[in-house]
Amino acid sequence: QLIFLAGQLVKKQDAKISVYDHGFLYGDGIFEGIRVYNGNIFRLEEHLIRLYESAQSIMLSIPYNIDELTTIIIDTIKANELQSGYIRLVITRGIGDLGIDPFKCKNASVIVIVEPLALFPEELYQTGLKIVSASTRRNRSDVLSPKTKSLNYLNNVLVKIEANLAGVPEALMMNTDGYVAEGSADNIFIIKNKELITPPGYIGALEGITRNAVLEVARSKGYVAREDVFTRHDVYVADEVFLTGTAAEVIAVIEVDGRIIGSGKPGEITNDILQGFREIVELDGVK
Ligand code: PLP
Repeated sequence: QLIFLAGQLVKKQDAKISVYDHGFLYGDGIFEGIRVYNGNIFRLEEHLIRLYESAQSIMLSIPYNIDELTTIIIDTIKANELQSGYIRLVITRGIGDLGIDPFKCKNASVIVIVEPLALFPEELYQTGLKIVSASTRRNRSDVLSPKTKSLNYLNNVLVKIEANLAGVPEALMMNTDGYVAEGSADNIFIIKNKELITPPGYIGALEGITRNAVLEVARSKGYVAREDVFTRHDVYVADEVFLTGTAAEVIAVIEVDGRIIGSGKPGEITNDILQGFREIVELDGVK
């Protein structure tokens, strides 16, 4: 396995960063998770736009333009002979001193890792997930909102710990007002009376690329799909619930906090959306 680090491809065992890198010391950096499906990098442009917006928001200067970064990603995929898998792009503030001052970090660190990873086993797409709601709250302050896909993922880590302790693969995060925001690394949709609803970004949800693709797929199939706030109650009484994310793709949820959702099986509309999503993953993107 070859990893892009400090301007070159290095072997996995040699891919090491300095303990003075502010990504490590302070979580000072941003990242993207991207999928490649049979040679097609799904919605790469959208991921890179989100990355550059995250960088702009935290005043981090990425030392490559979008075209250069695209070439680096393609070259890393080719060097690993990867047809389908997962790409992790990480940009940190770079090496500085022990103080927090980011302006002492002269060069951002750019890292590209590619792996043949899929998050959930195929049978879970057939059966659906049981999940719980977490007590950890989503911060929704203005700049460091989930819109900035930063390396500060402690909320999400705590949510994942709560999921692990409950013996389930994922947990839901509410914001401080009690509105449902998202999972530890995925967005949520509920379906009620054939309408698809997902929380708006301002509630404390990352505007996921998969989420946006699903909104488009749903509308192209003639469903009403919209953003709106909702609470746990609305999740419990939904006809169908599913999660979306680069790693999770589209996956049904059949139980939340012990409440059976709908029929207790992945619903008809969820399956229709999953099928529609799988039809575009090899088409929409960069070859
Ligand atoms: N929410 C969070 C907190 C995430 O980390 C992710 C994963 O990137 C998502 C949602 C899903 O976003 P996307 O579909 O862009 O992967």
